[in-house]
Amino acid sequence: MKKDASKDGWISEQLCVPMARTCNLYCVYCQNPPAGAPPPKEKIAAAIRRKGVKAVSLEGGGEPTAGGDFFDWVKTLKAAGVAHFMLSTNAVALSDPEFCRRAEKAVDYFTVNFPAADPDTYRKATRSVKFGMAVKGLENLKALGAERKIRLFHIIFGGNYRRLPAFADWVIEKFPGLAFVNFTFVRNAGRVGDSAEIVPRYGEAEPFLKVALAKLKLKKIKAVVQNMPLCRLRNFEGFSFEFQRWRRGDHILEAGIAKKAMCPACGNCSLEPACCGARADYLKIHGSKELISSGKDPESIRAEAF
Ligand code: SF4
Ligand code: SF4
Repeated sequence: MKKDASKDGWISEQLCVPMARTCNLYCVYCQNPPAGAPPPKEKIAAAIRRKGVKAVSLEGGGEPTAGGDFFDWVKTLKAAGVAHFMLSTNAVALSDPEFCRRAEKAVDYFTVNFPAADPDTYRKATRSVKFGMAVKGLENLKALGAERKIRLFHIIFGGNYRRLPAFADWVIEKFPGLAFVNFTFVRNAGRVGDSAEIVPRYGEAEPFLKVALAKLKLKKIKAVVQNMPLCRLRNFEGFSFEFQRWRRGDHILEAGIAKKAMCPACGNCSLEPACCGARADYLKIHGSKELISSGKDPESIRAEAF
């Protein structure tokens, strides 16, 4: 847990509660597939009471709303003293207006895994036909006046990177009032299994990603990019999530994220202290030839929109 002086400081002081145990989708890039066994509610509640935790993020291996006991968890954790909730979700359950209404009352921010702006790409990503339900979930939140609570997480993978600009257009048209879009380059973990089809080269995704970022910036919609080396974001480095963490004095990588691999190019690079680098799991598939050392001073880069 880290301290943050902002008015929403509780966001960076939250405890992750891995309460999900199943999922209603089957994403090809799932990093943390359901394991079927969340920790007992009372054990978590006791730890929360003991530590005086006030904010939690509901997540875990799977989809927190798919287990049938979502509101039991909220009730138990509230009784233990939790005042702020974040929810990682795919939004499918929010298509039920009553479920959405109750969830919206309980949750401060919805981190929504949303890999596509069209049914076909969504089907390739999630191996499901629930695109319409997931969109309905977002629309229900918007209808409740909670668009500002939506943070869209868009995993960049082999099946959607060419459509990044179209995804940006869709966000601009449908949800221009959301909190922000987080583009995360897929990790070779969980179900990915060393697949070059699922993990594109950084350089393949780069031009499409830059167009998407530019489109969102022009409309003043906040966006960040995660797990993409700064040399593959040339002139767009300020959108890097890890760069922004470095800028404010945090560890570059969040707790639990695998360390960057040290490549020959990184050893000579002035951006190294501020860069997420490439990870060993990526290098295993594509190697390090795309990484280019830079002489740019990271202090000269302006963080975008935050
Ligand atoms: S990525 Fe999320 S929504 Fe997709 S299968 Fe994994 S837990 Fe479910
Ligand atoms: S060469 Fe290495 S340190 Fe430099 S920007 Fe690329 S990945 Fe980051």
